[in-house]
Amino acid sequence: MTDTMPPDLLEHALAAKGFMPPDEGELLHRVARERLRHGPALEVGTYCGKSAVYLGAAAREVGGPDSVVFTVDHHRGSEENQAGWEHHDTSVVDPEVGLMDTLPTFRRTMARAGLEEHVVAIVGRSKVVAAHWRTPLSLLFIDGGHGEQPARDDFEGWAHWVDLGGYLAIHDVFPDPADGGRPPYELIYLPAIASGAFEEIEAVGSMRVLRRASGSAGQAL
Ligand code: SAH
Ligand code: MG
Repeated sequence: MTDTMPPDLLEHALAAKGFMPPDEGELLHRVARERLRHGPALEVGTYCGKSAVYLGAAAREVGGPDSVVFTVDHHRGSEENQAGWEHHDTSVVDPEVGLMDTLPTFRRTMARAGLEEHVVAIVGRSKVVAAHWRTPLSLLFIDGGHGEQPARDDFEGWAHWVDLGGYLAIHDVFPDPADGGRPPYELIYLPAIASGAFEEIEAVGSMRVLRRASGSAGQAL
C-alpha cells in the first residue's frame, strides 16, 4: 500500500474549493493515516472542505470506530474572506442573511467524496467549542482564523488536547514576514515549541507538523 492519497479522493481534493496546496495536503493525509489508528483528529478551519478531504481519506483508509475527523468552523469566513478582501468569493455568500456561509459547499464536498461517515462538522466559534471539548486528540490541525486573537485562542483552547505522541499540524506558518501573516507562526508555532511539549517533525510549504513529546492530554501547557 502506498502512503499517497487514494486516486478517487485526490480528484475530489483537487476539485474542492479552498486553500490547501496538493503537496501540503498529501503531508496532512500521511500524518492523519499514521495517527488515526490511535484516536480521533480535529481540524480547526473547515471552509469548503478541501483539507477535510485529505483528512477524511485517511479516516476511510484506517477504518474502525476511532477513525473519525471532527472539523470546526462557524462557516462565516475569516477576515480575509469577507467582501472587499483578497480571498472573497461571492459564490459562498448567503443572499438572505447577507453573510458568508460555506457550510452548504462543505456538505456538497463531503457528499461527492463519499466521506460523510468519516468527517463530522461542528458549526460554531472555535473558542466556544474548545471550551466544552473533553476528548484527547491524536491529531490536531489548526487552519482557522489568522488574526491575532483567533490564533491565540486556537493555541490556548486546543493544543493541550493533543495526546502524548500525538501531532499538532499548523497551516500558514511563515517564519519570513515577506511570505505571509504572522499570527500562525508567532502565536501558535513558536509558543508550541517554547512550551517544551512539542517538537517539529516535518515541514512542507507553510505546513508544520509537531509531535507532542511531553505532558498529557487535557492538562494546561
Ligand atoms: N482548511 C481550509 C481553509 C480554512 S480557511 C481548506 O483546506 O481550504 C479558515 C476558516 O476558518 C474559514 O472558513 C473561517 O470561517 C474559519 N474561522 C476563522 N475564525 C474562526 C473562529 N474563530 N472559529 C471558527 N472558525 C473560524
Ligand atoms: Mg490555511
